[in-house]
Amino acid sequence: MRIAYRPCYSTVIAAVLLSAVAASAADQSIVLKAARIFDGKSKSLITNGVVVVQGDKIVDVGSAVTIPSDAKVIDLGDMTLSPGFIDAHTHLTLDFSGNFNEKRLKELQTNVSEMTLMAIPYARATLEAGFTTVRDLGSRFVNSPEFVDVALRNAINHGITPGPHMLVATKGIGATGGHFDATGGYRDKLFGHEPDPSEGIADGPDEIRKAVRFEVKNGANVIKAAVSGGVLSLADEVDTPQLTPAEMAALVDESHRLRKKVAVHCHGDQAAREAIEAGVDSIEHGSFMKTETLQLMKTKGTYLVPTLMATEYIMSKIDSYPPALQAKARAAGAARSEMFRNAVKMGVKIALGTDAGVFPHGDNAKEFALMVGLGMQPIDALRSGTSNDADLLGIGQAVGTLEKGKRADIVAMPGDPTADVTATERVSFVMKDGKIIRNGPATPRTAAVRDDDEDLPAD
Ligand SMILES: [Zn+2]
Repeated sequence: MRIAYRPCYSTVIAAVLLSAVAASAADQSIVLKAARIFDGKSKSLITNGVVVVQGDKIVDVGSAVTIPSDAKVIDLGDMTLSPGFIDAHTHLTLDFSGNFNEKRLKELQTNVSEMTLMAIPYARATLEAGFTTVRDLGSRFVNSPEFVDVALRNAINHGITPGPHMLVATKGIGATGGHFDATGGYRDKLFGHEPDPSEGIADGPDEIRKAVRFEVKNGANVIKAAVSGGVLSLADEVDTPQLTPAEMAALVDESHRLRKKVAVHCHGDQAAREAIEAGVDSIEHGSFMKTETLQLMKTKGTYLVPTLMATEYIMSKIDSYPPALQAKARAAGAARSEMFRNAVKMGVKIALGTDAGVFPHGDNAKEFALMVGLGMQPIDALRSGTSNDADLLGIGQAVGTLEKGKRADIVAMPGDPTADVTATERVSFVMKDGKIIRNGPATPRTAAVRDDDEDLPAD
């Protein structure tokens, strides 16, 4: 039945007036001034920088630009303006920082709807830390059909809750008993059935294709798979291959047919080599990769997403992990520094990604200093977390640099980040889509985004 709706004239006039007010507010330019600009791509900073924003777009950038007479001018002083940071590897719907066994038990005790609500402060903390875009690589709750990452992405896009732009992977795809099999390490049939392609667990090329199609059907922007073992999984070895070359070929072919990029969790060298040959877009972690494998990456243009923060965090609390995981973390931690140094020296493409969720959300920017500590130039670390990430994510036409026509996702940090890259950890101005998210202190990270279960309110 159709319901006729005839608005009265006063409603129409009010609506016209309101939209006129909204339009003029959106049209008022915002001018950001700061002592320096990092534009996302250049090898040096621009001094006395100005960025002009209109609506959700950047309309001018440089040191000699015309400032519109009616613009709202925000002079940030001795700061550096930068494109909003991008993290190519987060888990915004999860938090397995803190005590591993306690978190594992808590996951089994908590409703998925409650865990969904817990993701709200994680998303806010990430955005307020200066990360205006994330690629979220896996959201899974054991024996649950929910797509919490899709829900969070959509809620953010609809303005329901603050957070970064999200490209989501839904459930990571992997083999029975592999890193992504959430039933691994529990007794058989505890959850009633073996997980199947609808839970991301797939064996053989046909099942892999089915899993890819199922995830795209349910809202995935990117496909994530585990091709080797991992650190925080109880039933596998960290560096063994977990997909066959035929499975990897099916994974890449099906994903690329559906115009989705493929990111693979991989620590082991053999699995990395096979995945790169199959044509994946990025290797996540890559701890044990040898120089020949890095050379293959360089030749093929495959990105490395090193996630140094994850290892760093786990190593800082190594005694709190189960012994089997401690051994895996130590082995991966010992190998990854040399691998990363080699990748930098050889000129492999590197995109910043952290594995946030392994450590508390909002600490993502610490990755910059870790990369610099292992031999990367600060300006290259900054490019890695902006334009390189945008390129890897396939959104370089919209974000990643401060250029005319790009989306107004902009951050500012104190001082000169090329002299002290830890300035990235002290972002105090964040704009997303032309809207100011913060200009000053962040929302206090008390109980909601924490490093410790004891901080949680009683529930
Ligand atoms: Zn991860």
